[in-house]
Amino acid sequence: MTKPNNAFVIQREDLHILFDVLIERGYTPVGPTVREAVIVYDELSGLEDLPEGWAEEQDAGTYSLKRRGDNALFGFNNGPHSWKNYLFPSRVKLWEGDKTEDGGFTVKSAVDTQKKFAFIGVRACDLHAIQVQDKVFLDGEYRDPIYSKRREEALVIAVNCGQAAKTCFCTSMNTGPRVSDGYDLALTEILDNDQHYFLAEPGSTSGFSLLAEIPHSEASQEAIAAARGCTKQAQEQMGRKIDISDVKEMLYRNYDNDRWDELEKRCLSCGNCTMACPTCFCSKVEDVTDLTGNHAERWREWESCFTMDFSYIHGGSVRPTTRSRYRQWLVHKLAAWLDQFGTSGCVGCGRCITWCPVGIDLTEEVRLLRNSEN
Ligand code: SF4
Ligand code: SF4
Repeated sequence: MTKPNNAFVIQREDLHILFDVLIERGYTPVGPTVREAVIVYDELSGLEDLPEGWAEEQDAGTYSLKRRGDNALFGFNNGPHSWKNYLFPSRVKLWEGDKTEDGGFTVKSAVDTQKKFAFIGVRACDLHAIQVQDKVFLDGEYRDPIYSKRREEALVIAVNCGQAAKTCFCTSMNTGPRVSDGYDLALTEILDNDQHYFLAEPGSTSGFSLLAEIPHSEASQEAIAAARGCTKQAQEQMGRKIDISDVKEMLYRNYDNDRWDELEKRCLSCGNCTMACPTCFCSKVEDVTDLTGNHAERWREWESCFTMDFSYIHGGSVRPTTRSRYRQWLVHKLAAWLDQFGTSGCVGCGRCITWCPVGIDLTEEVRLLRNSEN
């Protein structure tokens, strides 16, 4: 094995310094923590907020925490939150205005005062999801100013997965379980008998400069091999797979397949899948006034293609049935997204499978649609 030039070791007892340095540099650390029996993302005050020793069991429509029996800090997989909660917040004020005494109206843009984020524990699939949303919010004719500011300022501390959930299928989507680019610092957690350390691989000058402030040593061949062994284990544990060869053409061919009727019987049109999905980006704007009618505000909020209102054009909804809405979602994710943005809208994180209350599984739906053709 050739030794990469940029691999170092940080001991577990020194990792807390990462948080101190980030806070000193004006970042708000955001990462995984346990809240209400789920691992969510939230602002972290230090390493002690991480879900030490916790893992989770997840499958279609189910999620529960369990103890791992060790002190791993990142020994779990994705929960319901993703980084879009911070880069593309679920509710944000766009502008506000007030009536003036002479009967006019003054408007001022809302300023996004959010401090810069340091994302801790970004998994490979989610790093790809951020890159997918970059295409949506930054690469088109219109750049989203809120996303753009938050994204430019964000620092990404990635964590390579050492385990996979039953709902994960990043290997099928070529998005994981090991990060490839787009991070400032990548960590792989290694627990080996009484040793507990992180292989640290900087991916940017900010990553190198962070590392310079944390005690570290050059990684041995054994440490590098142990880290690669961790991601190999995650690869082997991958809970699901999907055949994405010609999936775009297959879905376009099956626009009228009876399978969509079966889905209509199960799908609740609740939109959970779109809320949990790290790439879904739809939103609506809503105007509100106070009780006096003198003050008005415009807010942007997440919206879902599963609501009737989403496709309402004067006189009615373009997609009036659950059949048409589920089909729209799946075909957009895995087919039309490729035409629109040059990339799949799915990164194989499995969230839509876990957080669907009736356990609808898109990998299974694609398989059934494919099989129905034979
Ligand atoms: S469609 Fe489902 S598996 Fe794919 S990225 Fe969205 S939530 Fe994850
Ligand atoms: S697929 Fe599941 S999560 Fe998505 S809208 Fe239907 S019931 Fe809700």
